[in-house]
Amino acid sequence: MEKFPQARDLLASGGAPVVITPVAPAPMRQLLRVHTSGYLRKLADDTLTDKEVCKLGLPWHPRLLHRSSLETAATVAACRHALAHGMAANLAGGTHHAFPDRGLGYCVLNDVAVAVRELQAKDPSLRAFIADTDAHQGNGTNAIFRGDQRVFTYSIHGERNYPSAKEAGNRDVGLPRQVSGDNYLAALSETLPSSLDSFPADLVIWISGADVHEQDRFGQMKLTTGQMNERDRLVIAWCVGRRLPLVVLYGGGYHREPGMTAHLHANTISTAAMAFRAMQSRPDLPENDRHGVPCLPLPSGS
Ligand SMILES: [Zn+2]
Repeated sequence: MEKFPQARDLLASGGAPVVITPVAPAPMRQLLRVHTSGYLRKLADDTLTDKEVCKLGLPWHPRLLHRSSLETAATVAACRHALAHGMAANLAGGTHHAFPDRGLGYCVLNDVAVAVRELQAKDPSLRAFIADTDAHQGNGTNAIFRGDQRVFTYSIHGERNYPSAKEAGNRDVGLPRQVSGDNYLAALSETLPSSLDSFPADLVIWISGADVHEQDRFGQMKLTTGQMNERDRLVIAWCVGRRLPLVVLYGGGYHREPGMTAHLHANTISTAAMAFRAMQSRPDLPENDRHGVPCLPLPSGS
């Protein structure tokens, strides 16, 4: 997936106030907090069945486990950084279709679930809000956290789009096919702020998703680039305005035009970093709420 190095290069050269730090792959003990040992063994031993590879949707190669472990480690690190400093991003992540015992829809490991479980292993009272604005429902994440009072799952997605079998979360907002940008933003504004207000979160993990764009091949939504920017600005403002530590993840993106998916992801991260920098310079903030590193995006290593 060339979008990962392309977006990283755009951010590194684009003047966004970010620091990019590499990570080592997530250790097996972290992955086991969510995934079954049987599934992880199949990934490591290269023994997925043809049917399992078909459901994953990617041509399987053992390198995919390495890449997914890096991606998961970056989400864990971004969560820790956001809790300590207010905001961070992973230059990948948001693989929300993966279940404990199987990969699905290009998602090998559920990075968000592993990160939340890893944080909760150290602080069992930690409360996480997962805001999923990717065009597809976060079915794996919803299933993993169902019944866990410490996690709120919000997903706004195409009701008739993949996955066909939805998994109920705490707040699911199903939109019609080819929803207009105006209607998407109205539905988001009607539901996300009230959901944030309903749950006292310690951390918001935002799976942004570039596949809501009108030129995306799989999103079935009609947001222009300007409306995507508006979505990003709104989500970030709602979190920053509530003083909620925020982690930004990519989610999916499959733009028809080469390079555009990377451009959209980089835009989202830049918007977040600029908003964080603006917040830091607010005179009403106590001195100890201002930190020297505004944002720490972590690359997938791809
Ligand atoms: Zn998606």
